[in-house]
Amino acid sequence: MTVILGGGISGLSAAYYALENPKLGALTLLEASNRLGGWIRSHRSQNNIIFEKGPRTIRIGTSAGENTLDLIDKLELTDTIIPINSSHPSAKNRLIYANKKLHVLPNSFGSVFKIKAPFRRPLITVLWNDFKAPKVIKEDESIYSFVERRLGKDVADYLISPMICGICAGNSKKISVKFLMKSLFEAEQQYGSIVKGIFKVTKNKIDQQKNTRSKNLNNTEFQTSAKRSVIEKWSVWSLQNGLEELPKKLMDQLSSNSRVNIELNKHCDNITFKSNGAELEINGKIKKCSRVISSLPAKTLAKLVKRQHPQLANELNEIPMVTVGVINLHFNHNILPMEAFGFLVPPSEQLPILGVIFDSCMFKQGPATVLTVMLGGDWFEQYFGDNPTKEYLLSVALENLRTILNIKDDPVEADVSILKDCIPQYIVGHSQRCDRIRDYISSHGIPLTLCGSSYEGVGMSDVILSAKNAIDSLSTTQK
Ligand SMILES: Cc1cc2nc3c(=O)[nH]c(=O)nc-3n(C[C@H](O)[C@H](O)[C@H](O)COP(=O)(O)OP(=O)(O)OC[C@H]3O[C@@H](n4cnc5c(N)ncnc54)[C@H](O)[C@@H]3O)c2cc1C
Repeated sequence: MTVILGGGISGLSAAYYALENPKLGALTLLEASNRLGGWIRSHRSQNNIIFEKGPRTIRIGTSAGENTLDLIDKLELTDTIIPINSSHPSAKNRLIYANKKLHVLPNSFGSVFKIKAPFRRPLITVLWNDFKAPKVIKEDESIYSFVERRLGKDVADYLISPMICGICAGNSKKISVKFLMKSLFEAEQQYGSIVKGIFKVTKNKIDQQKNTRSKNLNNTEFQTSAKRSVIEKWSVWSLQNGLEELPKKLMDQLSSNSRVNIELNKHCDNITFKSNGAELEINGKIKKCSRVISSLPAKTLAKLVKRQHPQLANELNEIPMVTVGVINLHFNHNILPMEAFGFLVPPSEQLPILGVIFDSCMFKQGPATVLTVMLGGDWFEQYFGDNPTKEYLLSVALENLRTILNIKDDPVEADVSILKDCIPQYIVGHSQRCDRIRDYISSHGIPLTLCGSSYEGVGMSDVILSAKNAIDSLSTTQK
């Protein structure tokens, strides 16, 4: 029997893909809490408004994104997709709040030739900066340091730092350049500049990716939605009734299959690996299995393997997590200054908010304005201490909305969540650390397979693909 630890989207996906391979035998999915879905939670408010407490949109344009759409088709959720086209105002208008003003980020070819505040030069001039900047040989560095060195401080402060806040609630001065800009970093390391490399390394890679994608798209494997997303130029998408429909549908499919056993309220406290399998301590009892697939955050897994494999636990423990305050707000009429995705706040502004998402610009919910304020992230403890009250977080969110968006009305509904340790941080050295973790597991012959957001990408599509890859790797070794 194979045990899958964790019933978030990666654990559920692992179980789903495992069912495609009969050789993997019986499956038991153990979830510590009383529900499935992990951070994906679409809550319906008293006034029937959907509040997304975790993820709200899924990106397209990568093979991971296409794989997720393929899963949506297989689960027969295709008709419930709500796509956002790339010409939609929420796809085009991305704002940042800097120097006490909201600014629309350059969003057209023409705008990169003009000086657009808060940038002090036209964005196109950064290419000249890159051309002149000397090559510095490094194994890894922070994304902030790389961008500042090659493209200038303005781009690092006003483009990259807020983007990192938006993607992983992280600090660009700690996050590895390989998290978002691996190919640009490699371009510098090999050819001396991004611009020079872009026509060689990056172009080849983009061509390769395009080939793989178009192969996938022509392949019968990817039938409808992935093709539609390319033809109709989607930017992001969600589902009617919210993204939680995906884990719910996976749960329905898994529960109806006799090979799968799903157990809630089963907290795993320790794992002891044996030559022929593993023993798990679950709520004080021992459960035996032949293999463990862990979809848990690395820090959680570290606690479970520490007794037997302290060296592995130390490595897993070095992948930090950040806490995010999520404040969902419902106002009963339109109170926004413009149609946009929302705004992000560069950390240099020293405000406790990471950004605000204009949910109802993307997905209309009648005449209501629905917003989500994100707080804290890498700076959570600095601004809010260890144990802030929800009332305090709400007051901070409303105060910042008043100042930045000039919103004077009180919300009809407000829902505050503190998501403790919810997003892993791929800090400098992350990819080498992941290699060491995988090498340790394989060289010690441990029957443990990893998936989830701690290793190969923090987005929903990344973790779904990580689950598929984990199962594929097992299928290969079990042949
Ligand atoms: C606020 C927020 C906004 C986000 N926005 C987006 C977005 O817009 N788009 C996007 O693509 N991605 C987004 N993400 C990322 C995405 O939500 C995550 O990558 C994804 O949900 C992670 O899923 P997972 O299954 O790997 O982990 P989790 O959801 O953390 O699931 C792990 C599960 O393991 C269980 N567990 C923990 N310990 C144990 C134990 N000892 N024994 C048994 N079970 C245990 C937990 O209860 C949990 O259910 C966002 C994340 C957050 C937090």
